[in-house]
Amino acid sequence: MTGLGSKPPIRQSDKRVIQTLLWALTPLLNLRWSILLPWVTIFLMVALDEGKSVSAYARALGVKDRRIVSRYLRDIGERARNGGPGLGLVTVEQLPTHSRARARVLLTAKGRSVAQAILQQMRKPVDERRPVQCKNCKRWFLPQRSDAKTCSPRCRLALHRKRKRSHSRPSTVAGDGVSNFATDRRPGSSSK
Ligand SMILES: [Zn+2]
Repeated sequence: MTGLGSKPPIRQSDKRVIQTLLWALTPLLNLRWSILLPWVTIFLMVALDEGKSVSAYARALGVKDRRIVSRYLRDIGERARNGGPGLGLVTVEQLPTHSRARARVLLTAKGRSVAQAILQQMRKPVDERRPVQCKNCKRWFLPQRSDAKTCSPRCRLALHRKRKRSHSRPSTVAGDGVSNFATDRRPGSSSK
């Protein structure tokens, strides 16, 4: 045995499963590149069993302190705990005071469409192609051609225009891609 890698290597059939998981995560990565795994987990729990109380999700996740789950729910809700925008995937609906649970957690329309996008990715036939980041809008997309650099004809045109303009002045197109991944996006824009 040499080196740090262990044998046997990941099998090709297992790689396809990993590929499917990667694809399924793409709609979440497109929300925010730095998305946290607990956010994803809680979002999926709500999608699986909507309308429960915060405590019920905390119990299901094995988290003793419901305030932790409450904080994460704010992060994936309308407003994050730091006051900035949340992911807008869920909403906590306050219930009338006489009911046993004080509030219940529901998916927003955006949460529902993200869940649909994840399902779509998972049900797709296994795709060997790797997600590619659009050079224009920075979204991750499934390239139809191996040399595709943009997600849509619109982005291709926009990139072309940017490049044309940048001939006369220093380029603003280039960048590390990842740092402006989450910011350079209008809500509701899609890669279709
Ligand atoms: Zn694009």
